[in-house]
Amino acid sequence: VRNLILLLGDQLDPAISSLAGADPASDHILLIEADEEGRYVPHHPQKIVFILSAMRHFAENLSSRGFSVDYIRLDDPANTGSLDGELARARARLAPERILLTEPGEWRLLERFRQRQDDWPELELCPDTRFFCSSERFARWAEGRKQLRMEYFYREMRRESGLLMTAEGQPEGGSWNYDEDNRKPLPTGHAVPDQPHFPADAITQAVCALVATRFTDHYGALDGFDYPVTHAEAEQLWQCFRRQALAQFGDFQDAMAVDQRWLFHARIAAALNIGLLDPRRVCLDVQADWQAGLIPLNAAEGFIRQILGWREYVRGIYWLMMPDYAERNTFGNQRALPEFYWTGQTRMRCMQQAIGQTLEHAYAHHIQRLMVTGNFALLAGIEPKQICDWYLAVYMDAFDWVELPNTLGMVMHADGGFLGSKPYCASGQYIKRMSNYCSGCSYKVGEQTGARACPFNALYWHFIMRHRDQLSGNPRMGLVYRNLQRMPEAKQQALWDWGEHLLVRLDAGEAL
Ligand code: SF4
Repeated sequence: VRNLILLLGDQLDPAISSLAGADPASDHILLIEADEEGRYVPHHPQKIVFILSAMRHFAENLSSRGFSVDYIRLDDPANTGSLDGELARARARLAPERILLTEPGEWRLLERFRQRQDDWPELELCPDTRFFCSSERFARWAEGRKQLRMEYFYREMRRESGLLMTAEGQPEGGSWNYDEDNRKPLPTGHAVPDQPHFPADAITQAVCALVATRFTDHYGALDGFDYPVTHAEAEQLWQCFRRQALAQFGDFQDAMAVDQRWLFHARIAAALNIGLLDPRRVCLDVQADWQAGLIPLNAAEGFIRQILGWREYVRGIYWLMMPDYAERNTFGNQRALPEFYWTGQTRMRCMQQAIGQTLEHAYAHHIQRLMVTGNFALLAGIEPKQICDWYLAVYMDAFDWVELPNTLGMVMHADGGFLGSKPYCASGQYIKRMSNYCSGCSYKVGEQTGARACPFNALYWHFIMRHRDQLSGNPRMGLVYRNLQRMPEAKQQALWDWGEHLLVRLDAGEAL
């Protein structure tokens, strides 16, 4: 064997760097189902099915193109359970001249394989070229900057990629960002698009049966798995989104509604993150739809910003800041993650909805993650590591490079404002404005203290008061602290006391 090419479960892209120039006559491809990878956090069973099924389908695709594929199944009796353990066995079996691996998207694995290079000089790590911006490019952009704001990075990416830019180098429509237009709640009765379905074929059914017996203690339902597991299915999902939802994506990207889990979201992040879709292609498609007059500019810009801006930016931050980044805890939070994050058993309807659909589908959209489950964790002072591990475990699209900066930086502000210029903290009023959750909730969003009061309200003010020293100097928090100052002492005290009471109940393991 000339080259042994190891493909990881999130590298299922025929154009991945490790496969460049691969020759079926002399090269061998290795895919490994490693038990350890399903367990280092308790991944949602549907996420494990998604990755293993997509791996098995991709292996078939490669075999049909003439490649020799070594596929190590989870239940192979000789499987050592780890990626490097299985790579060691394959190396002994095949004695390749070179082992090629595209750099893993996770610090934990990159470090492990780098260490292996000491013993295995034939192991070569290839850069992951599936992104608009390499880690080196991001580091050059970041150098010498006091603050790394996504907005400025995004503008640079727009200029470099030419996406939504005029021939004169200006942003189309004259503005870089149309977020102001993208904050509409969903009007009552507004129709939402149908979703395509992806019935489990024989491969997916076999994987489901395997996962059902091996990961019994993991949070989340296995029934109802309905995700694309091949490139063709991912393409079908993407084209459906373009036709049916993209035009209204911008308007309603922050909206939340009872029992409406997908709304106008593309739900392609999982497919993008494992290589079933190409981020450049989807951005070009969106630009083409805008140029053809099929979608408004706020939808096109809002979508492209998610991919070209946020997705690239958080990856840049991850590789720039790891491994220390994962340990950050600016507020010194120590509180344990409440049990109801794993069960959905809470009287807070917004949390029930967000956690319930996560349990059922391994999915919640970005505002549910940021302003409901994330906001609660921030206000309640949950230890960042615990909430980061939760997000990594429960979401179909969560991989460390994208989940960690989003959770630790954006949701928890635990990096001291490196990623976000202010914490995304909000009282129940924000959730009321952007959703219809509150009307059916057992709590009253208009009440601040007392047994019926929405817990987000007192917890919000408790958060603002307990972090006064750290946050009151932040110009973007000025208005909040002026409002606090104007508040009568007695009201401040009542909010503080009620916030304390809620935190004590959380510490006692009570569900709110
Ligand atoms: Fe959530 Fe409060 Fe609204 Fe209930 S009242 S749904 S807890 S924001």
